[in-house]
Amino acid sequence: MTEPDLHEVVNPATEEVITTVELAGLAETDAAVARARAAFDTWRRVAPADRARLLRAFAAAVDADREHLAALEVANAGHTIGNARWEAGNARDVIEYYAAAPERLFGRQIPVAGGIDVTFQEPIGVVGVIVPWNFPMPIAAWALAPALAAGNTVIVKPAELTPLTALRLGELALRAGIPEGVLQILPGRGPVVGQRFVTHPDVRKVVFTGSTRVGKEIMASCAAQVKPVTLELGGKSANIVFADADLAKAAATAPYAVFDNAGQDCCARSRILVEASVFEDFMALLEPAVRGVRVGDPADEKTEMGPLISAAHRARVSSYVPDGAAVAFRGSAPDGPGFWYPPTVLAPVRDDDPAFTEEIFGPVVTVVPFRDEQDALRIANATEYGLSGSIWTRDVGRALRVSRGVDAGNLSVNSHSSVRYTTPFGGFKQSGLGRELGPDALDAFTQTKNVFISTEE
Ligand code: NAP
Ligand code: MG
Repeated sequence: MTEPDLHEVVNPATEEVITTVELAGLAETDAAVARARAAFDTWRRVAPADRARLLRAFAAAVDADREHLAALEVANAGHTIGNARWEAGNARDVIEYYAAAPERLFGRQIPVAGGIDVTFQEPIGVVGVIVPWNFPMPIAAWALAPALAAGNTVIVKPAELTPLTALRLGELALRAGIPEGVLQILPGRGPVVGQRFVTHPDVRKVVFTGSTRVGKEIMASCAAQVKPVTLELGGKSANIVFADADLAKAAATAPYAVFDNAGQDCCARSRILVEASVFEDFMALLEPAVRGVRVGDPADEKTEMGPLISAAHRARVSSYVPDGAAVAFRGSAPDGPGFWYPPTVLAPVRDDDPAFTEEIFGPVVTVVPFRDEQDALRIANATEYGLSGSIWTRDVGRALRVSRGVDAGNLSVNSHSSVRYTTPFGGFKQSGLGRELGPDALDAFTQTKNVFISTEE
């Protein structure tokens, strides 16, 4: 027997150890894949109405456990209680939404000579889902719900730092009657468990959310088995504010579009682009909004921003704000234990400053002026990322032109919303590959089979 690989789960707001979780090694991963492979043979044959019923029961179990799930995420990830409740509700909604899919996975009947031609949306097999630490519940749910609905079996590898809500979702699925082996949660290290999803021939699809660096490695390695991948990667999204916008509203909301979840959000609008003629006015409105962000105990209902996930991550975030950096103004953060970092606004910044070009994944935003619409688009698109973005203007034509012009997958006009479970989510360029959520996410978890049936005598 080898020693168990134990991982201490830490509360990032207090630095206290909450619990210890055993990390799976290669042997455990292979055993989980074998269970998932065996379960696939029966799960894919469960009648559509029964698969739907089981998923609705799973959604109901998540619904009944929302306060508990939210409390786990507050403790494990430092998410504010308001956000954590939304995340648990989102996991429920996504599972319920895709519970409608088993009975609606239509194929097509295509006119041909000499017979009938029909298509089937077949499940792929065992799906390996690799989840990051920034939104443990929603990101797990966005993959596992459509994958299970389409008849696949699923193994989720949560991030080492944040396994607790994923483990709980696994328990709730079993309690709801989803058979053993259909959904497994396997805490472990990325280069061990995650990497094994890539190399194991019985894992037929990988869903990865995380850094662009690791995503590229996974995509390259999946080529060896022509294994399909869905990738949700990083971002450096633009919040473009035109002079004709409701400036007060744009400035009041801009901090929450980047500092929510302490900036640890792939959709964070971490570059604010402001039309030069209103730059000073905008900065004057932004300052009180940033200073007003309530940073502190994430369990407090009034708190708007919690800590960063770890000491190592805080060191990485801090490196973008060296001594002498152009800090225009910043908000507050608690002293004492916890991985705190204050909301920070950098201006002016050079266009080759790493704070302006690289994903910081923390509460740091850069603000730059632009001359006109073309200049705004040039700056917004001068990045290898293309995940989200916002456009603030009262001119409908400009709103549409700029929306079409920004190379990103999820844009909002006079709003900062990126995510609805009913609409597609995913990145352009190096922000990702494929789309999650919405009506078409099932395409990522099915393969089309064409069958011709001769009617010749
Ligand atoms: P990460 O290092 O890429 O890790 C993400 C996940 O991949 C973790 O579960 C990690 O395991 C695992 N992993 C690491 N190395 C691996 C390997 N060689 N093979 C297989 N799996 C491996 O990213 P992170 O630092 O946790 O998350 C922050 C990044 O994720 C940011 O860049 C952010 O933009 C991006 N992100 C994107 C989206 C989106 O939807 N587009 C959403 C959230 C986050 P460990 O826990 O063991 O490291
Ligand atoms: Mg990592």
